[in-house]
Amino acid sequence: MAGIASLGKDLMTRGVMPRQPARSGLQDKVRTGRGDIRGRLSTKSKTPGGSAASTAQDWSKKATGKPAASGKIKGYNPIAPERVAEILKRLDQLYPDATCALTHKSAWELLVATILSAQSTDVNVNRVTPELFRKYPTVEAFAALTPEQLEPDVRSTGFFRNKSKSVVGAAKKIVSDFGGHVPDEMDKLLTLPGVARKTANVVLGTWFKKAEGIVVDTHVQRISRRLELTTQSDPQKIEQDLMRVIPHGKWILFSHQIIWHGRKICIARKPKCADCLLENLCHAADKTWSTVEMHKGAEG
Ligand code: SF4
Repeated sequence: MAGIASLGKDLMTRGVMPRQPARSGLQDKVRTGRGDIRGRLSTKSKTPGGSAASTAQDWSKKATGKPAASGKIKGYNPIAPERVAEILKRLDQLYPDATCALTHKSAWELLVATILSAQSTDVNVNRVTPELFRKYPTVEAFAALTPEQLEPDVRSTGFFRNKSKSVVGAAKKIVSDFGGHVPDEMDKLLTLPGVARKTANVVLGTWFKKAEGIVVDTHVQRISRRLELTTQSDPQKIEQDLMRVIPHGKWILFSHQIIWHGRKICIARKPKCADCLLENLCHAADKTWSTVEMHKGAEG
């Protein structure tokens, strides 16, 4: 990630001192005035990563033929295909091989790990699962348990009573209804206890390489809103919005990339905007540093 960390410096024009975030989260001198910091940074030649990316002002120029007035970007369309394509291009530069961070060797192991990852971290789940799958090596072994028997093994992932119920219930259903094999269809996966679209999308995309939807976890939820790819807060509605604007061939990779971005840069409480390759495309109201307008309502 050293490359990302250095981007803030790369953006700085000679003679311009690196700026610190204002306490308000709004950077002074970013909005108006000839030669202000935004004016100097929002040129194609200054685009991070050397791409020919346009800034929000450029999108506006395309739509109106002249730069937008300060404070409001006229004609700006956050889901314009060119803008979305530029976001995807930069995510590819940042995370070309992004994949699921949950350790697994089968669809069943991935399903269990995903259920356990709710309200927990992947690191925490990865600490628990190797021993768990040594102790219970097959889906049949899990199906033979009661939830209470599994609880001590998954306790450290939090919400262990519900998770135990879900894992044992899913195992029993997979054995009784699907011949011991995790189904590879959304409708069937959704019949398993504890499995909603997020978990089903993880298993379908990561294991079966089937893009039936887009994984919307807490990172995807927050960052999609910050990037104005959706204004929704309900995960299912966010997924529907994303499925409309993200090309189908990118559905699986996009969610992995955004999840990594959420872990490394666009963190919930204090996003590292000065280090972010998407910075001049992002108008989130809760940015900690900005060279472009910040839009009310675009928040994580
Ligand atoms: S600029 Fe800031 S808020 Fe926007 S995507 Fe990057 S880290 Fe997140």
